[in-house]
Amino acid sequence: MKLTLQEMATAINAEIINAADVAVTSTTFDSRKAEAGSLFVPLVAANDGHDYVASAVANGATVTLWQADHPNVPTDVPTLVVADTLVAFQQLAVYYLKQVQPKVVAISGSNGKTTTKDFVAAIGASTFKTVKTPANFNNEIGVPTTILSMPADTELLVIEFGMDRPGDLTFLSEMVHPDIAVLTMIGEAHIEFFKTRERIADGKMEIIAGLQPNGVLVYNGDEPLLRERAGQHAFLHTATFGLNPDNDLYASTIAMNPVGATFQTDKSAMTYHIPLTGRYNVSNALAAISVGILLGISDDKIAQALAEAPITENRTEWLAGNFGGKILSDVYNSNPTAAKEVLHFFAETPVTGRRIAVLGDMLELGEAGPVLHASLAEKLDPATIQHVYLVGDIMASLEDALSANYPAGTVKRYSKDDKATLIADLQADLTADDAVLLKGSHGIHLEEVVTALV
Ligand code: ATP
Ligand code: MG
Repeated sequence: MKLTLQEMATAINAEIINAADVAVTSTTFDSRKAEAGSLFVPLVAANDGHDYVASAVANGATVTLWQADHPNVPTDVPTLVVADTLVAFQQLAVYYLKQVQPKVVAISGSNGKTTTKDFVAAIGASTFKTVKTPANFNNEIGVPTTILSMPADTELLVIEFGMDRPGDLTFLSEMVHPDIAVLTMIGEAHIEFFKTRERIADGKMEIIAGLQPNGVLVYNGDEPLLRERAGQHAFLHTATFGLNPDNDLYASTIAMNPVGATFQTDKSAMTYHIPLTGRYNVSNALAAISVGILLGISDDKIAQALAEAPITENRTEWLAGNFGGKILSDVYNSNPTAAKEVLHFFAETPVTGRRIAVLGDMLELGEAGPVLHASLAEKLDPATIQHVYLVGDIMASLEDALSANYPAGTVKRYSKDDKATLIADLQADLTADDAVLLKGSHGIHLEEVVTALV
């Protein structure tokens, strides 16, 4: 990337102070990462980035933005004065995106965004110069950050969209104008703000707001709420995927193995392998295959890319436990849909000893929390999962629900702040024949338990 001071000023409608004949080759809002060639973007949040402009300049930043309502405009560095630094940052991203003109795939959904993004990017990279959202940079700051991190010769941009409130996806979609928009699924995540799954589906459908005129919405056709909404747009191009045969692309056979899953589809003779277990990850892979087909990528390239896809840590991975048995770690996050899926899968995993589940609170469910926690009981049977360790306050409702079926002493609950007792109890209980599943919301930090057990 190379943007001159003048070109940026025009793109974001800025006044230039301390003009010089310079160009920037990168942008950052973290002064510690500023270097020669950087545009520093001081964002106004809990910490005001303007307090760090001097340190960004000391680290070599070539140009800084500056919000007009702040006093003491710098005198020692070319500066672009704007009304709002975040808006300017977004406008600069839009300008740069128009220069580079990659094909854009935008991915949202209650769960599975990052996994699907990793799959789509792996498939895309088989054929195109591809850039994807790093980590989880999926909001109004992360999306422009991703855009501005692309090399100028990028051909495919795979970008994750997060959603907290109504309007968020309209905003992001109109920022990037995707060629392909993907909706992985509708769950209960964010129900605190949206109240109902219907409203979550409405929020997710906003992803088509900025879709290119010939763009395609790729969505999970197993979700009636999405089918209903997509059907209301007469001129919308769509492609559905899912586990049911009424989808444009579906998995005709699925088999799980200890390190991943294998499946076939109705569309080709290929057998696909993915390095992740759980039927929901097959669904995420189907979303990615649909995108690969739309991008014109061959079946064998798609299959090879999926098998080798680099996957972000802690999303359903098998680890060797220091007690001699195995651990199924899925501690990155949790929600009722995913927790039931993984319990279903875990209950069918072959094991010589016992299956033990360690389940943490699922956060952000609002008032429905206790009922949704108790609903996990439908996937917990002492015949297949012999011991259950619960972590967190909301799990009290599941503890109650399990008391009917589970013998006394086989269900225990811990405070999320008392991992030491939980770890000690697990270490005393576990044997080399056992398998342990760990799943909980990010905020419960079950990764501390995983670390102690591997
Ligand atoms: P975030 O909102 O944190 O960005 P995300 O949507 O990017 O999450 P992933 O990071 O891909 O989702 O997966 C997070 C967790 O969600 C997984 O560990 C798994 O438990 C669950 N999950 C992933 N895909 C699905 C799916 N298709 N359906 C239901 N649950 C899923
Ligand atoms: Mg994510």
